[in-house]
Amino acid sequence: MKMLLGGKGANMAEMTNIGLPVPPGMIITTEACRDFTAQGQKFPAGLEDEVKEKIKLLEAKLGKKFGDESNPLLVSVRSGAPVSMPGMMDTVLNLGLNDRTVEVLANVTNNERFAMDCYRRFITMFGDVVMGVEHHKFESILEAQKKKTDVRFDHELSAADLREVIADYKKLIQKEAGRSFPQEPIEQLFMSVFAVFNSWNNDRAIVYRKLNKIPDDFGTAVNIQAMVFGNMGDDCGTGVAFTRNPSTGEKKLYGEYLINAQGEDVVAGIRTPQPIAALENDMPEIYRQFADTCKLLEKHYRNMQDIEFTVERGKLWILQTRNGKRTAPAAIKVAVDMVEEGLITKEDAVLRVEAGQLDQLLHRRIDPSAKLDVVTKGLPASPGAASGAVVFDAELAEELAKTGKKLLLVRTETTPDDIHGIVASQGVLTSRGGMTSHAAVVARGMGKPCVCGCEAMRIDYDNKVFTISDLKIKEGDIVSIDGSNGNVMLGEVPMIDPELSSEFQKILEWADEIRTLGVRANADNPEDAAKSREFGAAGIGLCRTEHMFMAQDRLPIVQEMILASSLEERQVALAKLLPMQQGDFYGILKAMDGFPVTIRFLDPPLHEFLPNAEELMVEITTLRLTNGDKREIDEKEELLSKVRALSEFNPMLGHRGCRLGITFPEVYAMQARAVLQAAAQLIKEGYNPVPEIEIPLVIDVKELAYLRELVINVGEEVMKETGVKIHYTIGTMIEVPRAALLADDVATQAEFFSFGTNDLTQTTLGFSRDDAEGKFIPAYLEKKIFADSPFVVLDRMGVGKLMKMAVELGRSTKPDLLIGICGEHGGEPSSIEFCHLVGLNFVSCSPFRVPIARLAAAQAKV
Ligand code: ADP
Ligand code: MG
Ligand code: MG
Repeated sequence: MKMLLGGKGANMAEMTNIGLPVPPGMIITTEACRDFTAQGQKFPAGLEDEVKEKIKLLEAKLGKKFGDESNPLLVSVRSGAPVSMPGMMDTVLNLGLNDRTVEVLANVTNNERFAMDCYRRFITMFGDVVMGVEHHKFESILEAQKKKTDVRFDHELSAADLREVIADYKKLIQKEAGRSFPQEPIEQLFMSVFAVFNSWNNDRAIVYRKLNKIPDDFGTAVNIQAMVFGNMGDDCGTGVAFTRNPSTGEKKLYGEYLINAQGEDVVAGIRTPQPIAALENDMPEIYRQFADTCKLLEKHYRNMQDIEFTVERGKLWILQTRNGKRTAPAAIKVAVDMVEEGLITKEDAVLRVEAGQLDQLLHRRIDPSAKLDVVTKGLPASPGAASGAVVFDAELAEELAKTGKKLLLVRTETTPDDIHGIVASQGVLTSRGGMTSHAAVVARGMGKPCVCGCEAMRIDYDNKVFTISDLKIKEGDIVSIDGSNGNVMLGEVPMIDPELSSEFQKILEWADEIRTLGVRANADNPEDAAKSREFGAAGIGLCRTEHMFMAQDRLPIVQEMILASSLEERQVALAKLLPMQQGDFYGILKAMDGFPVTIRFLDPPLHEFLPNAEELMVEITTLRLTNGDKREIDEKEELLSKVRALSEFNPMLGHRGCRLGITFPEVYAMQARAVLQAAAQLIKEGYNPVPEIEIPLVIDVKELAYLRELVINVGEEVMKETGVKIHYTIGTMIEVPRAALLADDVATQAEFFSFGTNDLTQTTLGFSRDDAEGKFIPAYLEKKIFADSPFVVLDRMGVGKLMKMAVELGRSTKPDLLIGICGEHGGEPSSIEFCHLVGLNFVSCSPFRVPIARLAAAQAKV
């Protein structure tokens, strides 16, 4: 009943029901808090009477009374939201004490010091969280008293000392809050309840909810509970413990306690607490009881617990339990162990590990014990850590990498021209651009660390330095980045390798048993293909051929092909490219032997392969001014005019995708030949290649029919020439709404569909991604028009509806149509769930996200 009672209250009620020693009390529900807020900070009608009535019950049960002269009731007031939420009101302990009851408490316990200690704690907490007097002002008074009496620790202050402190506290409250400290217990209680309700809407709580996507209208419950005392002497104490180690998952109690202490003393660092294992010596009987309770609670909740307890005069009280927060490695180990202990099923185990959390484990990271010299911070754009010598230029990076140097590519931002530099570097650091900038997307795809948008950096390409305020960093200097938190550090830092523990493998094996959705990887080269296999990908769902065109030794030939003024000229360039492409496909199909490889034909607008017009203009002007070579000037001018002719107003919607194949069929024909000759060669060598030829950006079945015929003709030629029978399929990307709307038609010419959801999101929303992410999506998130960026989490309502429709239409004409997704959404857990729900055959994602996708696919099935 967490929604109504809050997490803390619901679990205390549950523990009471299973017979554990929990101090009795009552819970004011979250519903009352919602009413309170709706009515403009007023208690709902009847609340006060009801609370008073329940206090009477509590009094009767305990034989104590609020304000009583012989046996006063003391309570704690604790907030408790449906989901754990730091940032709300702190707990008030010892409520019910006043100038009279404190003396009574001193008498009945025969312990004046204890009573005064409780009172001064109560005044501090109440003064701070209910009356708004800053905590440190109470601390200063206490410190002054310790100094005066020459003691080091709070518990060394005598009763008389504490009386002085209390007198000063009350003066402080009078001065700061403009009223005296309330003496009437019931008034103290209602003021506290009021403060808890109000704290739901304080700034800290609002910010926390926003960060953690907790709805604002949940409200908080209030727990009013009889006090038990850990500070009555040396047979008392208080502590917190996890039932297993929350950072490693090891099955061993993990926590701390303090003898003769109350409440938050353990975490407040007032004295150094003892490790929980020492309790076995200090209080053997209590330890045994506590260990049994831990076992019982784990069994009951079938999960690792985080437990708060207090010991009062040799009696154990349990004050809180909840599922313990844990690191990714601990989550995995605990889940696997609990299956082996028979506590949970494999399905439960798969659900226990947060798919997104696995990211931490799949990359090299900085040794957590290392001391770091962080000089600035950017956006954590691609996880993992890297150290390398600073290099500002992609060409130079490629060059230096050949000598085995470790490099860090530093740019204001990157473009497709820099890809070879990114490949050659350990990581990327940019001064501009967001989490979805080019550098970020490419780096994530390659599993390379990236920190971007590091605004404190000033890069001076001419002098090959960058500065961070006074700090100057030259080309060749060693710099490290942490793509998981955005830190930038000087020098080399110690790193640890990703840990694919046997437990991790086990969870993934279970995920594979459960899931029905296939998982492939997006990979453009044999190394990535091999890595994907290692991570468990069953094929490649997207192999982009343009990345192969970007390589330094090929770009001039690609440019020759693009700039050719006749078909003959173009054929010459294509003939040079053919063996290169064939080599690429040979490598990838071989690495993926027996598994399908979807090869997408040339897709981006051609000018991406050409030099930049502005840079060319600068070169020409410089040549002119320096009386440069006339022939060179003419050549560059001609190049410039061609670049200009090819430039487009809106390349995203321009001459790209299958439109290139329609206008330059010879290009696609060359690519078909390269794929099929590679396949033939492999078959001859005894391999089993499974190529799937993919035509991008189709909007009409006739485009596909035309290009399909072209490929089939090449296929027949290749088979005749080689004498090898090649099995291959032809399909299309669905990335424009028209293709989805006409999917039944399109399916007649396709053996498979693959949703290119990056483009499908752009074209469905009419958002250009590069503009949207930086400029207006943040405002959409802020104003809650979107819950998530549609480029990160698939827009189920719009884009998803088109996908669902395309799946149904496509399979209406071709029931066995193979359907996958290859946008970045293919590696995002919530989007993967959607793909499972609409009946896709597979998702495809970057190699490093394959384990995440395997787990998320299983979670979707459970
Ligand atoms: P948080 O939400 O910050 O964990 P809690 O409401 O759990 O705050 O209170 C913090 C600590 O106060 C508890 O761990 C416990 O030590 C102490 N505490 C709360 N209620 C009582 C009580 N009824 N008797 C004794 N100690 C209490
Ligand atoms: Mg607590
Ligand atoms: Mg596309």
